[in-house]
Amino acid sequence: MSYDSENIFAKILRGEILSHKVYEDEYTLAFMDIMPQATGHTLVIPKEPARTLFDLSDTACTHLIRAVQRVGVAVKLAMKADGIVVMQLNGIAAGQTVDHVHFHVVPGSVHDFGKHSAEENQAGDLALLADKIIQCMS
Ligand code: AMP
Repeated sequence: MSYDSENIFAKILRGEILSHKVYEDEYTLAFMDIMPQATGHTLVIPKEPARTLFDLSDTACTHLIRAVQRVGVAVKLAMKADGIVVMQLNGIAAGQTVDHVHFHVVPGSVHDFGKHSAEENQAGDLALLADKIIQCMS
């Protein structure tokens, strides 16, 4: 299956859809998940168009995991979390719903996670959380 440039994260990358950004560099973007599985749930994506982790170039992959590490440290600090789950799904069969590769950075324990929150989080709440995480970025 080829990459669909109309997927929601491609639109976020192009600035066509708003997101609550916590980090950006030449290769990556991180923003708040709109239907979080826990407070502070953040997504980290590459700018390179790729559906799954297995489609990514070596360079994009290297920068992506480094961004996940940096964002993970900031989320941990900002949310005062003892644990951080880093999760990454590839393919519909694995539960992937957005066809642009992404890492989930979720504070808490995987044993406490339920489904995604059924409703979108309030934009104001996400903006506050994004600010908190930004302040903890090194
Ligand atoms: P996955 O199920 O692994 O493909 O994860 C996709 C994630 O994207 C889910 O956690 C959704 O809540 C999240 N999501 C979908 N649309 C948006 C959006 N517009 N802004 C932020 N997060 C989104």
